[in-house]
Amino acid sequence: MSPGHPRLPTDTDDGMLLVISGPSGVGKTTITRAVERSIPGSVFSVSATTRAKTDADVEGVDYHFVDEARFDGMVREGAFLEWAGVFGKRYGTPRAWVEEQLSRGRLVILEIDVEGAKQVKSAMPQAFGVFVLPPSEAELLRRLHSRKREDEALIQKRFAEAQREIGEAQRCGAYDAFIVNDDLDRAIAEAVSTVKAARAARAGRGEKPGV
Ligand code: 5GP
Repeated sequence: MSPGHPRLPTDTDDGMLLVISGPSGVGKTTITRAVERSIPGSVFSVSATTRAKTDADVEGVDYHFVDEARFDGMVREGAFLEWAGVFGKRYGTPRAWVEEQLSRGRLVILEIDVEGAKQVKSAMPQAFGVFVLPPSEAELLRRLHSRKREDEALIQKRFAEAQREIGEAQRCGAYDAFIVNDDLDRAIAEAVSTVKAARAARAGRGEKPGV
């Protein structure tokens, strides 16, 4: 328990930082939200971003939408545990909120890109990283098309970025588990059991949350 956070009845000592990444179109948001619902004491970290809000986004639930000047200010204040540029926009994880939730024993879930995951892993080596893979490149391209969210040029850009990101994820050492989303229910079950096992192992070893 860190100073300044009075202990609550719901506090526990088995906090863990969970990083979930994967290319666009791989289903990582669905898997992330299912892990959050399935594991008691888990909380989703809402990032700040400079990207435009879409109709599908809810302010404060999916992201905190901020302008470039505000994001700059947050970087200067050291408000981010990590931040990275993705598709020309910036995204960052709120440091103080994450630290407080970890100190309360929560499973804190960050859905962030590979650059951010590398920063988190070097700051907090006990963070557990999960990378969600598509069953194949052809299937990933098909899923990117089926979202009907973007025009063809942007889909091709996201596909190329996905291929680069998968290679980097496999090389960089920030990920402890790779889960193939061949079937959504199966992938969710694997993610939940992998994370539960990692959390039990960490609690058993008496490690400090996320450190
Ligand atoms: P989208 O704009 O589609 O919601 O997210 C684009 C990418 O930004 C995704 O790969 C997502 O995981 C990543 N992302 C979202 N929040 C953060 C964050 O706080 N930090 C980093 N490094 N990446 C993030």
